[in-house]
Amino acid sequence: MAEKAPSGHVAVIGAGVVGASTALSLRRAGFEVTLIERGEPGMGASYGNAGLLSATGTVPISTPGMLWQVPRLLMNPLAPLTIRWSYLPQLAPWLWQFVRAGSPARVQEISNVLAGLVAHGQDSYRALLGEDDFADLTQGGGMLYVFETDRAFESSRWKMDLRRSHGAEVNYVAPEQIRQLEPALAPIYRHALHVPGTRYVRNPLRLTQAIARKLVEAGGRIVTDEVEGIEAGAGAAPVIVAKGGRHRADRVVIAAGAWSRALARQCGADVPLDTERGYHAMFRTPKAAPRLSVMSGDYDFAATPMEHGLRVAGTVELGGLEAAPNYARAEHLKRHGQRMFQGLDGAEAEFWMGFRPSMPDSLPVIGPVPGNDRVYLAFGHGHLGVTFGAITGRLVADMIAGRKPVVDVTPLRADRF
Ligand SMILES: Cc1cc2nc3c(=O)[nH]c(=O)nc-3n(C[C@H](O)[C@H](O)[C@H](O)COP(=O)(O)OP(=O)(O)OC[C@H]3O[C@@H](n4cnc5c(N)ncnc54)[C@H](O)[C@@H]3O)c2cc1C
Repeated sequence: MAEKAPSGHVAVIGAGVVGASTALSLRRAGFEVTLIERGEPGMGASYGNAGLLSATGTVPISTPGMLWQVPRLLMNPLAPLTIRWSYLPQLAPWLWQFVRAGSPARVQEISNVLAGLVAHGQDSYRALLGEDDFADLTQGGGMLYVFETDRAFESSRWKMDLRRSHGAEVNYVAPEQIRQLEPALAPIYRHALHVPGTRYVRNPLRLTQAIARKLVEAGGRIVTDEVEGIEAGAGAAPVIVAKGGRHRADRVVIAAGAWSRALARQCGADVPLDTERGYHAMFRTPKAAPRLSVMSGDYDFAATPMEHGLRVAGTVELGGLEAAPNYARAEHLKRHGQRMFQGLDGAEAEFWMGFRPSMPDSLPVIGPVPGNDRVYLAFGHGHLGVTFGAITGRLVADMIAGRKPVVDVTPLRADRF
């Protein structure tokens, strides 16, 4: 790629952790930047997540044998992964791609791409935030996978091997040492694995707010407006049509999380973006909170001791953007949290639901609309949008500035399906 002097005005749509990081990286690269957000920065999926900056995020969500699990996923609305019947007709094309992404060969390919991004996840935040803010906003010490049953532990073995094959340190913890490492845990776990490399964000909202503040301090602008459409002819400067008026820029980056699909389509990129809805239960004043973030290997949720309480978060509900939340799922998470750490007061738990922006192959879309380098796409980060926020910003800024991206972005292109 030829070196171009960074100049011109870039508008970024969406101030989640991905859009805010992208806007700040572009500003630091020398562009004039406007970040357009319809609400408050950081209040989408970037608000209520489990906060993990994962060192082991190299296993896609769709794995071999997924097709045979679909009927079961439709039967239990409280299962860790469930599909809403009413949404099945709309979901079918996405689901088909999701099942296809679970072949053993594809899982290995996807895992290799995820590993390339994971390798730069934390360092990109360090560079974006600076050492002091990185230390203030994130917590090291690693995370713990815990398993109540031998079955769950055995069935996770191949995933752990895949993680290790990319260099992740995953250490077995003998049963009698589990509660020495994490005294707050109930004595119900037979196996545990410690991952020293994973950190967590102490407060995900504060992370996005800090990035947005740095953008303004660096001379970027944040505009509150809801984008309704983009006029993007090839070679012409895009016009962003919003409720509050028309915004002009030399380039636009669509980083509107789970709501990006319609905007991308207007610009000529028809991508199979959908949403994996996730929930959390938050205990504001927990009597028993862990030191580390703990992931249940039996029920697929994480419990993270944040600065404002203990957050039990996770699970997947394929149900689209419109259906009302099913807070029975959050209630279920609450009960799992109470089982994991005895003494938690269920009456004080607060519930939340959010929309992960998810591609069927668990890889984000990062790069230009094919045939139109005035429009860039930065969405679809699924379960790893916090981990990949800063590296996404770095990649987009590199591409727009004409610099060679630090990882190969070919597998992330919009027309890969
Ligand atoms: C329960 C749960 C747990 C998770 N845990 C983790 C974890 O531990 N680690 C991890 O790495 N990831 C995790 N994730 C995933 C992560 O939260 C997401 O991938 C990430 O937040 C996506 O960021 P985003 O900026 O793309 O989207 P969002 O945060 O949703 O931001 C999109 C923004 O775009 C704005 N917007 C949308 N449309 C428009 C429009 N038309 N005009 C103007 N603005 C618009 C929205 O208001 C929103 O602010 C979790 C997610 C969930 C739900």
